[in-house]
Amino acid sequence: MATEKGQKVVWFQAAGCTGCSISLMNSSYPDLVNLLLDELVPGKGITLLFHATLMGPTGRPALELLDRVPREAAGQYVLVVEGALPTGHENFGRVGEVPMAARAAELARKAIAVVAMGSCASYGGIPAGAPNPAGCIGMGELLRQEGIGVPVINVPGCPPHPRWFVETLVTVLARGLPAPEELDDAGRLRNVYSGLIHEHCPRRPDFDVARFAPYFGEQGCLYELGCRGPFTNAACPEHAWNGGVNWCIRAGHPCIGCTEPDFPDRFSPFFRKLSLEEELMTYRRQG
Ligand code: SF4
Ligand code: SF4
Repeated sequence: MATEKGQKVVWFQAAGCTGCSISLMNSSYPDLVNLLLDELVPGKGITLLFHATLMGPTGRPALELLDRVPREAAGQYVLVVEGALPTGHENFGRVGEVPMAARAAELARKAIAVVAMGSCASYGGIPAGAPNPAGCIGMGELLRQEGIGVPVINVPGCPPHPRWFVETLVTVLARGLPAPEELDDAGRLRNVYSGLIHEHCPRRPDFDVARFAPYFGEQGCLYELGCRGPFTNAACPEHAWNGGVNWCIRAGHPCIGCTEPDFPDRFSPFFRKLSLEEELMTYRRQG
């Protein structure tokens, strides 16, 4: 069993909906039990030290455990953060008596690396949507503001597919921390977030002959209905969701760009085709 000698992992939940945890709990292969108890790569698994949703202790005992982690496991754990970090006011989100952002920074300072699970932890996500009164930001930005040099690997998505987290974790367990060139401009592992949805979309033949669906529920490419697949990097067409059963576009819903920085504002309102000017701006931002 990996529980005694695996890589220590601390999972901290900030301003989010717990959807990223739920997505991971729905992982079918490996399932959650495999993830927690088995070797993920030969000789290596994980030891989950803290996860408020999964662990037994609650209330004061759980908070005391969280307080002890940076002191007693400094330099030994990977910190996974789920949810955005409110910085607008110290009362916009606390865990125990401590503001979420301060807790996340303290945990990150003593971590080997930070895995930002989901678009909220990666870039602010929905909690950071305009007008963002809580001043929500992602972990990369928080660490920049606090001057903390611990590496951050982003696993965006709203929520991320469980495979994207597992593949990121397995890559780190097998090969160690990624070199800068292994991350893309948005801080994601290139081998996990490889290519645009548009390139592997089953409706691409319709796009290529300009056969666009005029209404929801119709055949054809969803571009005129606001699909952001041409601007979104994710492996949804290959992996699909719920154990490979279905995914947004196959179900007839346009991609809303949930894995991209500045989601949701950059692509809102969702069900509207971008103007040519907006498209050019989006391409420029993506380099
Ligand atoms: S549905 Fe979206 S991702 Fe698929 S081909 Fe059309 S624009 Fe591209
Ligand atoms: S298709 Fe687009 S909106 Fe849907 S899960 Fe994938 S990246 Fe997110």
